[in-house]
Formats: sequence, structure tokens, C-alpha cells
Amino acid sequence: MKLLISGGGIAGLTLAFWLHSHGHEPLVVEKSSRLRDEGYMIDFFGPGYEASEKMSILSEIEGIHYQIPRLAFLGPSGKERFSLGYATLRKNLFGDRHFNFMRGDLERLLYSKIRDRVEVRLGTEVASFEQDGAQVRAKLTDGSTDTFDVLVGADGVHSRIRELAFGPDDSFERPLGYYTAAFIVDDPKIREGVDDAFYTLTVPGRQVAVYPIRGDRLATFFIHKAEHRLYDFSPQMVREELYWAYGGMGWIVPELLERCLDGGGVYFDELAQVEMPSWRRGRVVLVGDACGCVSLLAGQGASMAISGAYTLAEELAEVREEEDIAGALARYEGKLKPPVEKRQQEGRRMARWFVPDNRAILAVRDAAMRMTTSSLASLLLRHRFASGNTVKL
Ligand SMILES: Cc1cc2nc3c(=O)[nH]c(=O)nc-3n(C[C@H](O)[C@H](O)[C@H](O)COP(=O)(O)OP(=O)(O)OC[C@H]3O[C@@H](n4cnc5c(N)ncnc54)[C@H](O)[C@@H]3O)c2cc1C
Repeated sequence: MKLLISGGGIAGLTLAFWLHSHGHEPLVVEKSSRLRDEGYMIDFFGPGYEASEKMSILSEIEGIHYQIPRLAFLGPSGKERFSLGYATLRKNLFGDRHFNFMRGDLERLLYSKIRDRVEVRLGTEVASFEQDGAQVRAKLTDGSTDTFDVLVGADGVHSRIRELAFGPDDSFERPLGYYTAAFIVDDPKIREGVDDAFYTLTVPGRQVAVYPIRGDRLATFFIHKAEHRLYDFSPQMVREELYWAYGGMGWIVPELLERCLDGGGVYFDELAQVEMPSWRRGRVVLVGDACGCVSLLAGQGASMAISGAYTLAEELAEVREEEDIAGALARYEGKLKPPVEKRQQEGRRMARWFVPDNRAILAVRDAAMRMTTSSLASLLLRHRFASGNTVKL
């Protein structure tokens, strides 16, 4: 079978790996003209961990993993209030079946697994397509046109394939009322003042996290609640929004904001989940964030993207007759959609604890965090680590 995969991110590259292993012929088109930079830190466990084990890449994931000594919780001025030993948490919560790595590092690793076997066209998108029930004829932005058995949209939360096949973004994206930003700071002076912990500074309605990464740099993560909605994501608007949200914060936040704004390379987006009645239409199917974005509040998007890609490829593995394709796509959706929806609910439920609205909730959260054996602490720590219901791989 010939398959066109739009999106060379976590889901798209994993899918290409498995489809090729099953004897199919995938072509990946990726909008970005180069592999992306590190981006942000991902907690990785659950179904994606299991799917990676089946790919035999766990030892390589271990190579990009960050050993975080502790999670440090700061007060508004940057003074450390308490900290939790990460190794113990990792062991208690996941039995050590868990990794932290930068998203870009995982994408590079996945790319290295298919580079010599699968064609990946960087800087290329699907311009348009039409399907007749048996095939999809796609026109690409590099000027070529070709026919495929299946078109897969693995192009993330703002999926273009979803838009072309199912309709505009706002029909399926559920905004959660938060904005997030992430960027990397390469400044020895700022780095000097920060040791090797994963720092979190939370004040009502906003949170900043800072952690060291290879190359003596710092990675940052920002999240804030907002009643307003932004429709303009130009650098100027992002700058205004970040200053509006974090401008009054203490610690090293003012320096971080300055570095972010002179560099570029800032990831900034509204937090949203994607909810759809169906993930497939004829020979077009979606995978990963494109159809089931759980958002960082649920913390298992990358894991679900990998297990979704694995499941889709498994269902397509045995398909040799055209008429079996619809059944394979339906079985994939039937297996993945319920656990994705469960994680979406959990993510929405945990939002108020992740970024508390007021000091009272923040105080309860922090008190619970100090007693890491309490059920609220377990829930909070699992906001990104939630087990949800499992995906049968
Ligand atoms: C700040 C932050 C923290 C997170 N933390 C975690 C975490 O701790 N644990 C976790 O599991 N998940 C986490 N996530 C979620 C996780 O990053 C996503 O769920 C995951 O990346 C989804 O993978 P994907 O391949 O579906 O989409 P993406 O990773 O978004 O990849 C989509 C790819 O498609 C490409 N593309 C886009 N449009 C087009 C187009 N028109 N044509 C061709 N290509 C296109 C993009 O360039 C990209 O390469 C976090 C997300 C954020 C934003």
C-alpha cells in the first residue's frame, strides 16, 4: 500500500517507521524545512513507552533522557520553598518506566530510524487532495501530484488535513483558557544562578518552569490563564502577551523574558484539545494531536501520538485487499478514541490544580505536594503522568 503522511512530527515519523516495517510504502511530507530544535521537555511513559519498547528504541531514548535530581518549588520572589526527589517519584509513580527528554531530541531519534528507508520531504505540504472512495489523489506544494491508498493527517493540533477533510479548526478545537510558551536561553550569566533542579514558580493564574539542558543552557516553560482570546500570533503580540502575563513576576523571570524577546524561536500557542465525532473520512485518517490532542495539561500527548501511530500501523499491517482498509481505520479509531477522551477529561479536571486561580487553591496544592503520598499529590503529579485507561498494544 502507498500512504501519504502529512506531518513529520512524533506521530508521523513513528507511523512511517511501522508502515515501512510492515512492508507498506509511506511518503512523509513535513512543512518545516529542517528538523526542529529541542522545543520543550516531555514526560514520557504509559502506552507510548510500551510502543517504543516494541520499536526497540528504549536504550536510545535513555540516551536523550535527562536525569533530573529534584523538583524545586519556588515562592514568588524565587526563594525555594520545598523540593521533591525526582528519582523517588519516578520510581514510585512509574516503576522507572518513564523518561524526560526534549521533544526535538525524540523527533531526531525517530527520523534517524527511517532516514535511509522512507522518503521524507522537508519543506513540503499537501496543497489539495481529492478522493474517490478507493484512492486519494494529492497535489503537493513541491508541484508534484500522486495517488495514494491512504492519506494520514499527522500534522498536529492545527492540522491542515483535518481542515481540508473535515472543516475549519474552530469546529473541533476546544480552547481551555490558557496560553503557553517555551523557549531556550543560552546565557551563561542566567545559567550560573540556577542549579540542576527542575524549578517551578507558580502564582495565581500563572506558572514558570526552568530546567537546565545540555550545552549549559536553560529551557523554559510558561503557562497562564487568560479570559481573553488572541487571534494574532505575530512576534509583537506574543511579546505583549508575555509581558502582560509575566512582566510583574520575580526571580529570573524578567531576564528570561528579555532573552526570549531578542531571540526568536519561541513556541507560543493557546492550549486546546481536539474533539471530533470521527477521526476518518473515506481514505483520510488522522493520528496524534491532529485528531486527539489531549493538551499538556493531560501530559500524555506524545505518548498517545506514538501509541496511536503504532496502533494505526498494526491495523493496516495485514491489509492487502482494498476493501479491508475501511475496517482497519475503524478498528484503529475504536481502540484509541476512548483512552484519548479519558485523558482529555482528566486534563481539564487537573487544570485548576496545575495553574491555581487563587492563593487558597495554590496553598492546598503545595501542602499536598509536600506530602507526596497524599492522594491529591499523586493526582497532581499524575496530571502529566495520568495513567488513564490503557491502550491495548
Ligand atoms: C509546552 C508543551 C509541553 C508538553 N509536555 C508534554 C509531556 O510532558 N508529555 C507528553 O506526552 N506530551 C506533552 N506535550 C504534548 C506533545 O508535545 C504533543 O502531544 C505531541 O507532540 C503530538 O505529536 P504529533 O506528532 O501528533 O504532533 P506534533 O508534534 O505537533 O507534530 C506535527 C508535525 O506536523 C508538521 N506540520 C504542521 N502542519 C503541517 C502541514 N500543513 N503539512 C505538513 N506538515 C505539517 C509540524 O511541523 C510537525 O512536525 C506537550 C506539549 C506542549 C506544547
